[in-house]
Amino acid sequence: MADPIANVLSLVGIRKSYGSGEMESEVLHGLDLTLRAGEFAALIGPSGSGKSTLLNLIGLLDRPTGGQLDIDGQATVGLDDTGLTRLRGERIGFVFQHHHLIPAFSAQENVAMPLLVARGRPDAEMFERAGRLLEQVGLGDRRHHLANRLSGGQQQRVAIARALITDPPLVLADEPTGNLDTQSADRVFDLLRDFNQRQRTTFLIVTHDPRLAARCDRIIELVDGRIVADQAVSRA
Ligand code: ADP
Ligand code: MG
Repeated sequence: MADPIANVLSLVGIRKSYGSGEMESEVLHGLDLTLRAGEFAALIGPSGSGKSTLLNLIGLLDRPTGGQLDIDGQATVGLDDTGLTRLRGERIGFVFQHHHLIPAFSAQENVAMPLLVARGRPDAEMFERAGRLLEQVGLGDRRHHLANRLSGGQQQRVAIARALITDPPLVLADEPTGNLDTQSADRVFDLLRDFNQRQRTTFLIVTHDPRLAARCDRIIELVDGRIVADQAVSRA
């Protein structure tokens, strides 16, 4: 059993620069942040403030130029690419603004993909699991539809099911509702919240939408590569 008060994410002095030599510029200037199991946090800030850069570091898609980054109690400094890939596959789900589904695969095949990658070959259990998750996101009857035949909101729900199929303790979402109309955005957001409450999955969600941020438990604000505010959302 995981320790219920354990940190799922711990950042200490995280820095990130792009470029080198005279062209080097630092985008993140030493960030400290922890997320506990079950937290549902929004990451906000102006365009260019470093939100995606930070999410990519936490998602182990890129490496910091300095600082310590621990995922679910495991240090990532010093891990080689294989170690990072394994940790990402086991502990992290990622939802992007664009869904990145494979258009010619069915909804169910897309959702099963992370397990297929982890296990190396298809098995019946992964497709059953994918089917169950699609039911949970309200798409049980669309499981055999090709991804490119679904609406934008439906595709994003498939992408959420895909991010959750490995049961990761931490899910990162980079503007997951950015391309959706208000109703679809609400639906997608409700789903994230639902998984958070049922499974105690920790979420860090980048959003531009103040209405959605206000529905999170905590709002972290990044400006020019620094955390300028980090507050619990009070509910009257
Ligand atoms: P946000 O997601 O908050 O809009 P980003 O993390 O995308 O911000 O970008 C933060 C800053 O880092 C911007 O100035 C951007 O131009 C720069 N940046 C992002 N990715 C790269 C990259 N691959 N190479 C160089 N600069 C980058
Ligand atoms: Mg961004």
